[in-house]
Amino acid sequence: MNKHDLIVITGAGGFIGGALTRYFRDKGFTNVRAVDIKRVDQWYQTVAGVESIAGCDLKIKENCYRVCRGATEVYNFAADMGGMGFIELHRAACMLSVLINTHMLMAARDSGTVQRYFFSSSACVYNTQKQQQTDCTALKEEDAYPAMAEEGYGWEKLFGEQMCRHFMNDYGLETHVARFHNVYGPHGTWDGGREKAPAAICRKVIEAKDTGSGEIEIWGDGKQSRSFMYIDDCLQGIDMLMHSEVREPLNLGSSELISINRLVELSEEIAGVKLRRTYKLDAPKGVRGRNSDNTRIRERFDWEPNTPFSLGLAETYAWIQQQYFDRKAGKCTVC
Ligand code: NAD
Repeated sequence: MNKHDLIVITGAGGFIGGALTRYFRDKGFTNVRAVDIKRVDQWYQTVAGVESIAGCDLKIKENCYRVCRGATEVYNFAADMGGMGFIELHRAACMLSVLINTHMLMAARDSGTVQRYFFSSSACVYNTQKQQQTDCTALKEEDAYPAMAEEGYGWEKLFGEQMCRHFMNDYGLETHVARFHNVYGPHGTWDGGREKAPAAICRKVIEAKDTGSGEIEIWGDGKQSRSFMYIDDCLQGIDMLMHSEVREPLNLGSSELISINRLVELSEEIAGVKLRRTYKLDAPKGVRGRNSDNTRIRERFDWEPNTPFSLGLAETYAWIQQQYFDRKAGKCTVC
């Protein structure tokens, strides 16, 4: 890619889009357009030298055409989403993100300039029947079919993947699809109902330590398991996939399986506390166990996400702790 080619990143006020915007600027790309529906003071990161378009609703087709004008690459991260607490209770809202991907694909196709299109899919596309054990078998790409995706959010992502495939086959638009498995790290959602497990547990531990409550509430029985990918690995994987010959959906996730109880333990170790645990068994908790089978990504790139969870979590904890105390001190923070 030429360093002056226009890169469009949607959902750039959010966690992964914001991080990718910084990533490309740091690599010397001079022409980056960052787009989000949120006001700019609600973005996790705004990057100097980047064209930031705020308050732009990409469900609206005309907006998608406007932001894709002149672009060489499009990275579509915009979606109405969150952790289990959000996606289990807002299924219709999650499905409406189909409008974003539909209009963005049409705009990319009709731009006459877009050479590559990236779609951020999710491990939630996988058949839920294959995720009922805590010591689960890691999911291979072909395990998405026969389809029985996570209700709402997962089906929307699966449909988005299919649209990418058909836009490529029928219209010649080069599309790349990654199935992210639980991405975490600094500059992401850490409070307010959309946060994911690592951020939620870090915040609860920080709060318990600060208030001296000595207690933590855990959603479910704590035995549910997941793998978590650190943001830096996610960015590297996106870059590799977008600039490769790989055209089929690819797992982008860590294969280090962690239970929620272990996540709490690691957070306690970072904080230097030991908390009493209560388990909220009727809280949203998603599938019982999920891990990423990385055979295909290793074959394609001789690489896989490899940041040890304990290291990434320490970085994340430190950032959330700073946000927590900044907010407590009345400073302006985005959570
Ligand atoms: P995020 O919520 O931090 O970012 C998404 C951004 O999209 C938000 O800033 C939001 O304001 C914006 N947005 C929502 N609706 C919009 C609209 N109509 N028009 C314009 N912008 C809109 O989420 P994230 O964690 O950065 O995730 C980015 C993408 O990756 C999403 O598509 C998500 O589904 C996917 N994904 C993320 C994870 C994860 O663990 N973070 C896992 C699987 C898939």
